[in-house]
Amino acid sequence: MSRKIASHYALIDEELQPNIIIEVDDNGTITAIDHAVEIDNRAGVEFYPGILIPGLVNAHCHLELSYLHHAIAEQTGFAGFARAIGQVRGNYTLEERLRAASSADATMWSEGVAAVADIANDSLTLPIKGQSKIAYHTLFEVFGLATRSTDEHHRMAEQSTTSASVTPHSTYSLQDGIFRQICQTGDAPLSIHFLESDDELELYHHRGSLHEWYERMGWSCDFLHYGTPSKRIIESVPATRRVMLIHNCKATREDIAMMDAHFRSGVTWVVCPESNRYISGSHPPIELLRSMGCNIAIGTDSLASARSLSMLDNMRLIEGVPLAELLTWATLGGARALGMEHTLGSFAVGKRPGVVLIEGADLHTLSLLASTTTRRIL
Ligand SMILES: [Zn+2]
Repeated sequence: MSRKIASHYALIDEELQPNIIIEVDDNGTITAIDHAVEIDNRAGVEFYPGILIPGLVNAHCHLELSYLHHAIAEQTGFAGFARAIGQVRGNYTLEERLRAASSADATMWSEGVAAVADIANDSLTLPIKGQSKIAYHTLFEVFGLATRSTDEHHRMAEQSTTSASVTPHSTYSLQDGIFRQICQTGDAPLSIHFLESDDELELYHHRGSLHEWYERMGWSCDFLHYGTPSKRIIESVPATRRVMLIHNCKATREDIAMMDAHFRSGVTWVVCPESNRYISGSHPPIELLRSMGCNIAIGTDSLASARSLSMLDNMRLIEGVPLAELLTWATLGGARALGMEHTLGSFAVGKRPGVVLIEGADLHTLSLLASTTTRRIL
């Protein structure tokens, strides 16, 4: 049976348009998008008060860290957070970790998430993601200055029950050879933690807390000759590679211009405002990214550094951006980053993006309120 679904507004062509009826078939594929009047009182039309959007795309998550919910204090700063994760990680059983991941997956689905770019360091959560109704792309993350091989990561990616690939963690946590090798192998999207704090740039100038930590541990870096994290990426990653840059809090106009000039297939600037608030109180450079016409997506990061995996909570932390634009980042922005825009991310005939209802928004000013929620309709 096909369904006709309508609301006060629907996100169509990156705008919030009134008087829209979305028709879907049994499989959830959109068969028609109609403009009509008096849609709240039509036979055969399900009318929901609020705003209809396609399924959300969470462009940065670490589902496997869900068991660390409330385990790490807020606002300890970048180095403090990294230290704290190391201290509490061993305190949980396998069962507790699996239960937390499973519950986080179920919550994301019910809140309307259709796809997730999920960072993983092991295979633990693969059975959960494989059975989930959410489309996961698992990025097996290579991490550690002493790491010399990616064989295990590639083996996990090949055996993955979700679509999967291998990615470097960041520009400060991998030596030169292995970073280049990962970036120059295959064509799946990369997801690189990027300029979350000043320490990442300072390291290249032999100062700052990351540099001091490495000195104390006796660890050396063979990649500092690149000069900056941005230059390292440009000189290591082919221009044709699709790349998601995560956080970007300290990215400057020069960094953004350099990346946009280099990557022909486009960079997605993924912002995780709740994680930034939680760890350090810093903010993603929203206005700068907007003014430079960047493809922006939204990620929740993990429950180790967020009170929730709610895309809506993250959107609420971004001020001064029109709701339609914000919702486009949270849907199409992430779908583009993952190469899933042909099926997900927007309402268009032939796509199967899911239908999500935003309830309790201010429909006069078209803005989110503290009490606004999202709920899956389809
Ligand atoms: Zn992350």
